[in-house]
Amino acid sequence: MVYLKSILCSIVLVSTLTANATDLNNVEFLIPETTGRSHMVIAPHPDDELLIAAGILYRATQVGEKAQVAILTNGDAFGYKRGKIATKESVDALKLLNVQEDNIFIFGYGDQLLDPLYLNKNNPDQVLTSQAKLKATEAFYGYKKTDYHRAIHGVPAAYTRNNFLNDMIALLTREQPTDIYAVVPEDTHPDHRAGTLFLFEALEKIKITLPTYRPTLHLTIVHAPGEDLVWPGEINRPDLMFTEPAFVKNSPYKWADIESIPVPYPMAIKDPKRNLKVLAIDLHKSKTKHDKFLYRFVRANEFFWKF
Ligand SMILES: [Zn+2]
Repeated sequence: MVYLKSILCSIVLVSTLTANATDLNNVEFLIPETTGRSHMVIAPHPDDELLIAAGILYRATQVGEKAQVAILTNGDAFGYKRGKIATKESVDALKLLNVQEDNIFIFGYGDQLLDPLYLNKNNPDQVLTSQAKLKATEAFYGYKKTDYHRAIHGVPAAYTRNNFLNDMIALLTREQPTDIYAVVPEDTHPDHRAGTLFLFEALEKIKITLPTYRPTLHLTIVHAPGEDLVWPGEINRPDLMFTEPAFVKNSPYKWADIESIPVPYPMAIKDPKRNLKVLAIDLHKSKTKHDKFLYRFVRANEFFWKF
C-alpha cells in the first residue's frame, strides 16, 4: 500500500513537473522586465511608510523591483505594549502591499528618542532611556523577526547616537537601495526631522567608504510646519492630488519642482472598502480607532523633491 502510494505520488509529481515545464516556456512573457531599481522607505514610526510611499512600494512589488522599509522607532511613546502592536500592524499592512517581512528592517529605537540621540553629538556613546523605559533596541517582527542591530550582530544596541548612526550606515551599505524615500528635515515631528538628518549623515559617511554608491533621494513631508492639523485636508480623497503645503513658499523647495507620481490603480479606487491604501491604513487599528490622520494621505498621487 505504501509502495502504491509512493507510485501515485511520483505520477502526480511527474505530471506537476510536466505542467510546470510547459509553464516555464512562457515564463519570459510572464515576468515583467525589471530595471534593477530597489526602493527603500525610511519611516520614523510604524505607519509613516504608508504616508510617505505606499504607492511606490506596491508598484515596485508588481513590476519585480525590490521594495524595502526601514522603521526607525518602535512607536512606543504611549507604552511598550502599544509599540509592539504598532510594529505588528506595520508589518501586516506592508504584507498587504506584497512587501515581504524580510524586507522590513525594524531598528527598534524608542519613539521620541531620535531627536535627543541626534542632538547628543558631544556625547555620542551616552545611553539614553526611551519613554517606554527601554535602553536598548528591541523588536519582534520584520527582518529575522528582531531588531536590525540584533539581526546582524547577534546582540541588541544600547540607545546611543553612535549605535543608531552605525545601524543606518550598515543597512544602507548592505542593501544599497537605488532609491530612498524619506521626509524633508523641515517636517515638524522631531523624530521625523532627526531621522532624515541621521540619513544625510549616514550617506555622507558612506560616500567615503563606498564612493560608487549614489542613491536617488526622494523627500516628501508628513507633518507640515504650521499646518499639521489641516494639511493634507479631507480624509480618503483618492480623486484629489496633494496640494502645496504653506511652508514650501519660505523653504528651499519649489512646488513646481515636485515629482508627482500617480498611485497605482488599486489605490485610486474611490470606494474606501476596496481602496488598497485605505485597507492598508485600516490595519493600523491602534491608531485609526482614535484618530483619522492617516487617512488624510489617501490621495491620487505621491509627491517628492528629488535629489
Ligand atoms: Zn511619524
